[in-house]
Amino acid sequence: MIDQPVSSQEIIVGLDIGGTKTAVLLIDRQGNQLSSIASPTVISTPEKLIRGVVSVVNEALQIAQVEVGQIAGIGVAVPGLVDPMKGIVELAVNLNLRSYPLGQALSAEFASPTYLENDVRAATIGAYQYANRKEPIQHLAYLSIGTGIAAGVILQGRLYRGAHGMAGEIGHVIFEPGGPVCGCDMPGCLEAVASGSAIARLGRELIPEASEPITAEMVYRAASEGHEKAISIVRQVSHYLARAIQLLIMTYDVEKVVLGGGVTRSGPTFLDPILAELARLRSLSSLAAAMLEDEKVALLPADYNAGTWGAITLALPAPVTLSIRSDGSD
Ligand SMILES: [Zn+2]
Repeated sequence: MIDQPVSSQEIIVGLDIGGTKTAVLLIDRQGNQLSSIASPTVISTPEKLIRGVVSVVNEALQIAQVEVGQIAGIGVAVPGLVDPMKGIVELAVNLNLRSYPLGQALSAEFASPTYLENDVRAATIGAYQYANRKEPIQHLAYLSIGTGIAAGVILQGRLYRGAHGMAGEIGHVIFEPGGPVCGCDMPGCLEAVASGSAIARLGRELIPEASEPITAEMVYRAASEGHEKAISIVRQVSHYLARAIQLLIMTYDVEKVVLGGGVTRSGPTFLDPILAELARLRSLSSLAAAMLEDEKVALLPADYNAGTWGAITLALPAPVTLSIRSDGSD
């Protein structure tokens, strides 16, 4: 096997179907990346969505110079509520899908078993893979900070979903009582005070003289250039995010909290004020000093797509990953 280039049934496909783009990653059984591309997601109808996904997968197969018959399994990350056991997307508003058998549809298109997972849960598995390349760990929380905020948890090497698949949904815990109303209608949720959209909103409120639409990235850049109002926004957001990290560590006693998502791409400008707040918390309490070490916090590299790598893992038949795969819809 090792001497052959790519033999039959040797390709694993990882898909991350987002509201705006669909990313696809192809690897062989040895874990070598064969191709990685993205294309806009078409959400007008489920049929058009499937056609778009089929088309981007075919393009990735072409780039990798492999045939559709060589696909051994497909893992799919979906933004919404999924039933991994049945392969059904219960509700994905951003994809315009409701009670849709996406697993079955893709299995039929590619004649391969297909495994679905919620996108943050899939990215949690991807983050776990990433963290384990550096050191073997068993317990991890992944905190995704993008347009919204959500976390996923791996305990004893297994994805922990909880009773209703909601474990880690700290984006909708109140962090600022009486604060801005969240998309879930609750005032002051973490997502309403520290997500990318919250940072952009704060930027608009505090920097009204701005001539172009303010983004979270611009607020971080302005803060790094010494803009006082931007620095105060970043400081406030970092306090909340440090408390979210504290909450995940104290609730699940994880070895690592990995941060990912669009907002984290600001790199050190994003991470340093959070680490400063964790240092302040450590200085207040010996319990915090023992639990909130900097080494527990890691940032995903901007070019690492945790969603597609996690999706790949769902479809990998290797025993080492069986413990965290879904049972899917094959
Ligand atoms: Zn909320």
